[in-house]
Formats: sequence, structure tokens, C-alpha cells
Amino acid sequence: MTHDIHIIGGGLAGSEAAWQLAQAGVRVRLSEMRGSGATTPAHHSDALAELVCSNSFRSDDAERNAVGLLHAEMRGLGSLIMAMGDRHAVPAGSALAVDRDGFAAGVTAALSAHPNITIVRERVDSLPDGPAIIATGPLTAPTLADSIGAETGRDALAFFDAIAPIVHRDSIDMSVAWMQSRWDKSETKDYINCPMNRDQYLAFHAGLIAGEKTEYKQWENVPYFEGCMPIEVMAERGVDTLRYGPMKPVGLDDPRTGRWPYAVVQLRQDNASGSLWNIVGFQTKLKHAEQVRLFRTIPGLENAEFARLGGLHRNTFIRSPELLDAWLRLKSRPNIRFAGQITGCEGYVESAAIGLLAGRFAAAELAGRTMAPPPVETALGALLHHITGAAEAESYQPMNINFGLMPPIEGRTKKADRKLLYTARARAAMADWVAA
Ligand SMILES: Cc1cc2nc3c(=O)[nH]c(=O)nc-3n(C[C@H](O)[C@H](O)[C@H](O)COP(=O)(O)OP(=O)(O)OC[C@H]3O[C@@H](n4cnc5c(N)ncnc54)[C@H](O)[C@@H]3O)c2cc1C
Repeated sequence: MTHDIHIIGGGLAGSEAAWQLAQAGVRVRLSEMRGSGATTPAHHSDALAELVCSNSFRSDDAERNAVGLLHAEMRGLGSLIMAMGDRHAVPAGSALAVDRDGFAAGVTAALSAHPNITIVRERVDSLPDGPAIIATGPLTAPTLADSIGAETGRDALAFFDAIAPIVHRDSIDMSVAWMQSRWDKSETKDYINCPMNRDQYLAFHAGLIAGEKTEYKQWENVPYFEGCMPIEVMAERGVDTLRYGPMKPVGLDDPRTGRWPYAVVQLRQDNASGSLWNIVGFQTKLKHAEQVRLFRTIPGLENAEFARLGGLHRNTFIRSPELLDAWLRLKSRPNIRFAGQITGCEGYVESAAIGLLAGRFAAAELAGRTMAPPPVETALGALLHHITGAAEAESYQPMNINFGLMPPIEGRTKKADRKLLYTARARAAMADWVAA
């Protein structure tokens, strides 16, 4: 058959990319292994764009919420995923939740009916030679994962099991926490340190042991890496294990006492602008509500706002900040783009958003044009910028959209107004980009 571009993976990202390309007049071959006898450990059907877990696209508030803003930007760019999400919405307050079967059937029908799209039910085991978009998701079939690994370098294809929470810098109480590197070894004060006394530490330890944990299906029950052990598993090994591990206080002088505290929680910068900080060594499978409750008992984090909470996944993604250019092309093989969760974005909406951009970039390129990436002040631009360069490549882990990925709002603003300022600035930047 004749096609101009080959998309591998008919999930959220591949479906959106196929739609964007087809609408631009490009002929697409969309290969999806489900329906050919192959499947993933999480999917249950052969439908394209199946939602593997919750049915929520999260907040639909485009004024005060970054994912709501992303919804709005995608709608403005003719997103199929958003159109079908809206058509199959179910009541969920200010969130957008969907009837998952109706949604996936709607996406499948729209793509099947499009004259520029040929859907082929097949598993692809190696990277194609011609123009392609790889959108095979966190559960990429192993043979293709090997092929990607061979192209990108074995250790560039990361298998990761536990993630630590990320906190917005401006929600940390710096009258309690302080900046210092252990033993002052580094000239720069690289870490934010939150001190704990003995009682606080013991209460925190007990909270970790008692806290409600997420249960994982058997296929997710992979062995832990010692270097990436969930914090509650470490806590179970003994009351002092954490004080000799990620919470060790040695070499850290609390400026309020001039002494080392009983225990310390450290945060490390997570993005280039310094608006996001991850809690070092705090990968966890505690339930999300439990994480928020317990981590807010840490001195200095009483009002912490979380950009991401911890979790445990079997997850395949590439080290995108190192491997991809600003148009999502593999630097070593620019005819291949990556899209969706395999790039290291996290979530249904983010995956579809990166699929949308990959589709639009590829369509422009096939038409002989170069399309400027969306500005970093927009939600689409901020997510793309994070994936393709702003994130630290060494500690790169999957990321949801959030305001911390955007450049900070200059000048003094009331905290209550800040989100409105982010979204107003994003709308203006998006309008300029679309006009250009
Ligand atoms: C267990 C689990 C639970 C999750 N829960 C949530 C949640 O509640 N909310 C949320 O927002 N996100 C959740 N996620 C993340 C979610 O997977 C992504 O947000 C989203 O599905 C990723 O979209 P994608 O298009 O990148 O990948 P997918 O939607 O997974 O699509 C990839 C597609 O590629 C196909 N494929 C794989 N390999 C090949 C191959 N070699 N050849 C052909 N086809 C192939 C797969 O069959 C699949 O259809 C969860 C992920 C997992 C693993």
C-alpha cells in the first residue's frame, strides 16, 4: 500500500497524530498490534485510544489549571482526542471524564472512516526506514523496545519502576527549610533541606508503615531496584533505615540551631528554571491522598503543592531531552519521531498532546515547511520544551503538564492571581503562534 508516513501504535498519541496528519492531507499507515493476536498487559480491547486505567482527563478548568489549559489549546488545534472526549463526557464536576467505551469507539470510527488513514492490525518489531512516528506507549512490545534500545543506546531506554513526588518551589516554607549541599562540598547550595526532630521523625516513620498502599496487578510486580526502593519498603526494614538512607542528616547544619537535625528530607531541582523540586529518594506506592497528608507533615512542606505524586509503574520511555530535537525527531535518525508516553510525558492528555505536535510537525515537514514549536508560555510548548531539552537528562522521569514547566511570571503577584496570569499569557502566546 502507499503511504507517506508510518505511525506505530494506535493509543492516545498515535491516534491523535494520525488524525492531524490525515486532516493535513497526508496518507497514513497506522499499525496497531491489538487486533492481530498481540496485546499489552493493561489493555482489554482492540479499540484505538483505549484508556487503560481511569476515565478522567482531569481538570477542564482552562483558567486556573494547567491540564485544563492544555485541553483548550488542543481543542483549538482540532484535536480528535478532545473532540471525542467532549462528545462522550460524563458528569465529573469541573473535570472532564469520559465514557471510556464510547470514547474509544468514537476515535476508532473516526480514524477508520478517514480516507487518508489505513489501519493495519500488526505488531511492528523494528524501526521503519521511511518517515515514521513511534507512539507505542509505556508498554511498548519488547521486540520493538529492543530495536529502539539498539538505536538509542541501551542505557538510554529507561525501564523505571518507582517515582518520587515533585513539589512547586514557591509552596515550600523557606523560613523552616534551608539551602545547603551536604558538608558544603559544592560551592552552589544545591539542595533544599527540611529538618525533623526525633518525635517528628518517629511519627513520620509510623505514618509510612501504616499508610495505605496502592495494590498492583501481578504483571506490575517487578522486583525493585535497590537504588529505587519505595520509601515505605525501606521504612519496613527498620526504624533507622531511612535516617541512614535518604533522610540522613549528617553534614547538614540547620541555620536555626547550628546543629545537624535528627533527620532531613532533601529536595533537588527538577527543571531548568528551578520552579520544581523532587523529594530525593521518596519514590513511593502510598496512595495519592496518603502521600499528600503524610508529606505535608514534613517541616517546611506543610503547604506543599505537588506537581506530581509518587507511583509505581512498569514504564518504558526514552531519555528524550538527550535524544530528541525540538521537533520530536530522533537526532540520530531524523526521519523517526517519537510521541506519547514513550517520550516521558505522563498521562492521557499529555500523550495525546505530544501526538498532536508530532503529527503537525511531520505534516509541515512533508509539505516542505518548518513549523516553529509552540511558545514555552503555552501548555503545549512548555510540555514539549521540558521533554526535548529543559528537563535534566540524567534524572529524567515522566512528567504531567503543570505551571512549573512555564517561565515564571515576572514581578510580585498575589498567589491567588498567579494561575490566571499564566493562562492569560498562554492564550496570548498561542494566538500569536497560530497567527504566525
Ligand atoms: C497500568 C497503567 C495505568 C495508567 N493509568 C493512567 C491513568 O489513570 N490516567 C492517565 O492519564 N494515564 C494513565 N496511564 C498512562 C497511560 O498509559 C498513558 O497516559 C497513555 O495511555 C499513553 O498514551 P500512548 O499513546 O503513549 O500509549 P498507549 O495509549 O499505551 O498506546 C500505545 C499503543 O501502541 C501499541 N503497541 C505497542 N507496541 C507495539 C508494536 N510493537 N507494534 C504495534 N503496536 C504496538 C499498544 O497496543 C497501544 O495501543 C497508565 C499507564 C499504565 C501502564
